[in-house]
Order: sequence, then C-alpha cells, then structure tokens
Amino acid sequence: MAGSFVKKLKHGLLMTHTEFIEKVGESFRRTGPVESSHIDRLEEALIAADTGVELSIRLADELREEIRKGSLTTAEELRPAIRGRLLDLLNTALSANPVTQTGAGPKVTLLVGVNGTGKTTTVAKIAKRRKENGATVVLAAADTFRAAAVEQLQIWAERVGVPVISQHEGADPAAVVYDAIASAKARPADEVIIDTAGRLHTHANLMKELEKVRKVAAREVDGAPHEVLLVLDATTGSNGIEQALRFGATVGVNGVVLTKLDGTAKGGVILAIADTLRLPVRWVGVGEGADDLLPFDPEDFVDALLES
Ligand code: GDP
Repeated sequence: MAGSFVKKLKHGLLMTHTEFIEKVGESFRRTGPVESSHIDRLEEALIAADTGVELSIRLADELREEIRKGSLTTAEELRPAIRGRLLDLLNTALSANPVTQTGAGPKVTLLVGVNGTGKTTTVAKIAKRRKENGATVVLAAADTFRAAAVEQLQIWAERVGVPVISQHEGADPAAVVYDAIASAKARPADEVIIDTAGRLHTHANLMKELEKVRKVAAREVDGAPHEVLLVLDATTGSNGIEQALRFGATVGVNGVVLTKLDGTAKGGVILAIADTLRLPVRWVGVGEGADDLLPFDPEDFVDALLES
C-alpha cells in the first residue's frame, strides 16, 4: 500500500519533478564544494515550479547565508538543506490547522472552491477513501445552483456506493445540509461530506450562501464544519492563491485539496500555499478516477520532488 502510494504520488508529480530535477539534479549529484551557481539554479527551479518568487528567493538567500557562515560547504549537503527547509514549511502549516472533533455527531467536511476545480469529483474520492477505511459516509449535494452538479454527485455516489442527500435545483443549500446531517445522525453515519456551489450570480451571494451552510452545520453538530477544504486546480498555479484569499476569510478554510497535479509542472504551488496562506494541503488529486486521490504527506512530497 505504502509503496503504491508513493509510486502514484511520484507519477502525479512527474511533470513537476522532471522539470525541477532537470534544473537542479546535476547540482545534487555533484561532489566537492557547493557553488553559488547551484543555489541560483535551485532558485530558478523553485520559481519555475510555481513556488512563488518571494519564497523561492527567501529559501535561496537562506542557503546563501549558510554558505557565507560556513555551515553549508559541500554540494552533498545541498539536498538535505533544502529538504529540511521545505519540510519545516509544510509541517508548520499543518500544525497551525489542527482538525478537532470533540463532541458527538458526525464529522462534517465542507468542500468549497470555484467551478471546474474538481470539487464534486473530490467529494466522491474522499468518500470512497473513508468508506474503505471503515467509515460510514453521507454526501450532501449542496450545489443546488446547477441541476447538473446534483446529478453528477448522484452518479459518483452510486459509483462509490454511498448515500447522497439532495433536493431540487434552486433549493436552499443550507436545507440540504440540514437534511444530510439529520440523515447521518439517524443512521448513524460517521461523516457528512458537503459539495457546494462554485459560482452564483455574484461572489457576495456565494459567500452569504456558504456562511449560511456553515451556520446550519455548526448549529446541528458541535464544532462543525470540522474541516473546510478549499479545492484548487494545480494547473492554474498561483491563481489558486488569489482564489484562496477570496474564500478563506468568509468560510474559515483550514485545508486545501490540490487537484490535477497529474497535468502540470506547477506542484511547487503546495509550498506557496503553505507559506502565503499558512494552509496545509490535505489531499492531492492525481487523475480522474475514483482512486486518484492521495492523502498529502509532507515527507513523501518533498522526497518525490527532490529525488534525482
Ligand atoms: P467542480 O466543478 O469543482 O465540481 O469540478 P468537477 O468535479 O466537475 O471536475 C472538473 C473536471 O476536472 C472533471 O473533468 C474531472 O474529471 C477533472 N478532475 C478532477 N480532479 C482531477 C485530477 O486530480 N486530475 C485530473 N486530471 N482531472 C481531474
């Protein structure tokens, strides 16, 4: 399981990894004194992977400073030095956003994000994972803005074998969430996973709607929603940061799902998300199939990125 997981992650990160290692692999394989050109190349590789200019420069400057101080002297030390820094960054974002569920009732997870990022698909993928781990799950089709969204979730729910609570197009999403939580309590089920709209007539309307969904969840289950996951499409790279800022404040995002990592060399955006938003990536999407979702592990990610 662990082996196939790492293989899938590597495959998902293939484009990012290949481009990254093309630029820095040679520096990593060198022996002898570390040279400033190695750091320059590393800086370029980070920027090209969409790590963000500011963060890339900062990381490179820290390494330059280590060279100046004499604590980084050989080329062999370069990879462990950058590895440690990237891990720190990812682990800090993770520990800043603990997911706690203390009271009774189902765990409630809310997925938010703009249309097309992969929200509905991800709801189904997470449900499948949970089910495989022995949890019982109820889905809530709270994107009532588009009939197609409800139908799509119903198709997915059937495919992965979990119940979905839905209403007619245009219904109040908060009412759907209320029903789904009631259904989960009655069964009883361990988790409710909520799909939400990515677009309404205005952004303000969307935020108001998500806020209402949040309130209903909080009223029905202590501490809910326990997880609010922002779904971002990796192929849009740093655009995702903008989206996160638009959603973050209103809906209390405490984690990110980065989808479509299989189709881009911009995997460095995971680092930018951790640095700029202080948010951890919890899952990565690496394909369109039900099994193409991996729980994000900082160490596996950094190793898959830096392996030459
Ligand atoms: P939503 O509008 O946010 O609910 O997005 P959907 O779940 O409908 O997904 C939009 C498209 O992205 C669909 O064609 C999905 O198959 C595709 N998609 C979702 N996740 C991934 C992924 O991790 N990799 C790839 N390659 N495609 C994905």
